[in-house]
Amino acid sequence: MKKVFFLLAAALVLHACNNSYQQMAIRKKPKNVILLIGDGMGLTQMSTAYYYQDETPSFSRFLHIGLHQNQPTDAQITDSAAGATAFSTGYKSYNSAIGVDRDTIPRETILELAARRGQATGVIATSSVTHATPASFFAHAEDRDLEDKIASQLHASPVDFFAGGGIEFFAYREDGLNYLDSLASAGFLVDTTELKRPAAWNSNQKYGYLLAADGMPKMSEGRGDFLPRATEMAIEYLSQDKDGFFLMVEGSQIDWGGHANDADWIIDEVKDFDQAIKAALDFAEKDGNTLVIVTADHETGGMSLSAAEVRMQRTYKHINPTFSTGGHSATLIPVYAYGPGAAKFMGIYQNNEIFDRMLEALRW
Ligand code: MG
Ligand code: ZN
Repeated sequence: MKKVFFLLAAALVLHACNNSYQQMAIRKKPKNVILLIGDGMGLTQMSTAYYYQDETPSFSRFLHIGLHQNQPTDAQITDSAAGATAFSTGYKSYNSAIGVDRDTIPRETILELAARRGQATGVIATSSVTHATPASFFAHAEDRDLEDKIASQLHASPVDFFAGGGIEFFAYREDGLNYLDSLASAGFLVDTTELKRPAAWNSNQKYGYLLAADGMPKMSEGRGDFLPRATEMAIEYLSQDKDGFFLMVEGSQIDWGGHANDADWIIDEVKDFDQAIKAALDFAEKDGNTLVIVTADHETGGMSLSAAEVRMQRTYKHINPTFSTGGHSATLIPVYAYGPGAAKFMGIYQNNEIFDRMLEALRW
C-alpha cells in the first residue's frame, strides 16, 4: 500500500513538473536563444544517434518537435547559404545568398537584431567561420564563395564570440590585407593555436578562435571535443550579458559526410553535434530562460538506414546505410525546441518561419 502511495505521489509530481514545463514552453518569454544547426542533418542522420551510440541521444530531451520545408526562391532544393539565410533573416532567397534577399538586398539577421537590443552574440562552426551557414548570421554577400569578403565583415559585425576554422580568409589573402589585425583593433582576442578558456571571461573583451586554415579537422582526424567545448565556453562568456544572448552553433560536417556518402563520417559528426546539444540543454535546464532550437538546413546524401543484404538476400538483422545522391535532398527537416517559447516550433512550416517564430517567442 505504501508503495502504491509513493508511486502515485511520484506520478503526480512528474505530472505537475511536466505541466509547468508545458506552461513555460507556451507562455514564458526566453531571455537567450541558442540555435544549433546540423548541416545536412535529415531525420536519417539524426536517427544514427539512436543506432550507433550507447548514450541516450540529447534529441530525446526535446518535447516540442516540428518540421520545416526548405525550398529556396530559385530551385526546389536548397543549399546551405539560402537555408541559413532563411533562418537568419526570415527571407527565402536564392542558393548561394549570404544574408541577402532574392534581389541581393542585405537583410538584418537575428544576430544583428539581438545585438541592437543589447545582447551578446556568438557563432561557432566546424567549417571555416566564413562558410555559408555561420556567415549568413553576421555577413551579407551575394555569393557564398566570396569568403574573403565575408571575412572582411566579421570585425565590423556585432559578433562577440566566434570559434571555427578559416585563418586563410583573414590572413594570407590575395589582396594582402590582414583582417586578424582588424579583429584585434575591434577588441578581439584572437587565438589561432588552441581553444583555451581564459582564467576569467572579460566582458569588455571579445573572443575569437580560428583553429584551422579552412575547415576544422574531421572527428576521425582528431578534432576532439572542440564543438561541445566551444559551445560551453561561448555560453559561459555570453551569459554574462544582463540583456541575454544569441548563439548559433553549427555541426558543419554532417553535410560533408553526406556529400562523400560516408556513413562513418556522418555518424561521428552527429555524435559530436549531439554533445554540443547536450551542452546547450544542460545550461538551458539550469538557467530556465533559454530557448534551444535544433534543426538542419537540409538533408544531404538522400541517406537511408537500409537493411543489410547478405548474399543478395535482404535481412533485417543489420543496418547498412545507403545513399541516393552525392548532393542535397528536398525532404522536410525536423525542428526540436526546448525551453520558453518552444511550443512555437510545433507544426509544419517554411524554413524562414523559424526566424519569425524566434522573434515571436522573444516578443521582439
Ligand atoms: Mg554549413
Ligand atoms: Zn552541402
